[in-house]
Amino acid sequence: MTKNMNFLFKDDYSKSFLSQYTEIISIKLKVKQINEIKKSNITLIYSSSPAEVISNFCFPRNTKKNYEHIISIDKNFIYLKNNDNKLIFKTTDIVALIMHEIGHVMNEPDTLLFPDSKEYLKQKEYYADDFVRSSNPLVFKNYIVSLHNKTINNDIPYISKEQKEELIIRLKKLESNENYLNLIGHIKLTNNLRKARNKKHPKNNS
Ligand SMILES: [Zn+2]
Repeated sequence: MTKNMNFLFKDDYSKSFLSQYTEIISIKLKVKQINEIKKSNITLIYSSSPAEVISNFCFPRNTKKNYEHIISIDKNFIYLKNNDNKLIFKTTDIVALIMHEIGHVMNEPDTLLFPDSKEYLKQKEYYADDFVRSSNPLVFKNYIVSLHNKTINNDIPYISKEQKEELIIRLKKLESNENYLNLIGHIKLTNNLRKARNKKHPKNNS
């Protein structure tokens, strides 16, 4: 079995621009983790203009299962430059960005836990960040910390002051280990459900 994440792409254009990042993700994840992501039916799209059509060529009508989640990565963010005309983000920052978006699908908080929608939106970000960190704490944690630091410390047109303040809180949460195991979202939930089911119906080994 090839260890890659090409299943995320439905068009060659997006693949040609974004596979450099997903290749790094696939190297740093275990096969089991990649298979979990594969089950979630995520499509990764490279978006190159502020407004555009996501056409049917990506999702032909004969596709058996409809697309469930589309993650669109904006070219204008990837290639943002600072005042010295140098790229702000390096490859591993964009890896963290893609992993964070995958985290929104894989590790969503339970709405029942956070009935207040404003609080839910905040928690969503913590859970997605925690997915990035816990997927490979030695590697991805540094990537996401770097991404957030650069987003806070640079003039990025569409990041508001409020968002920067929220990012500072997210950085603190990433750094503190006490929150580490608290963020149990869908991925852990489904794993536990699977375990419970296997207990009920153990595989016949005889
Ligand atoms: Zn997010």
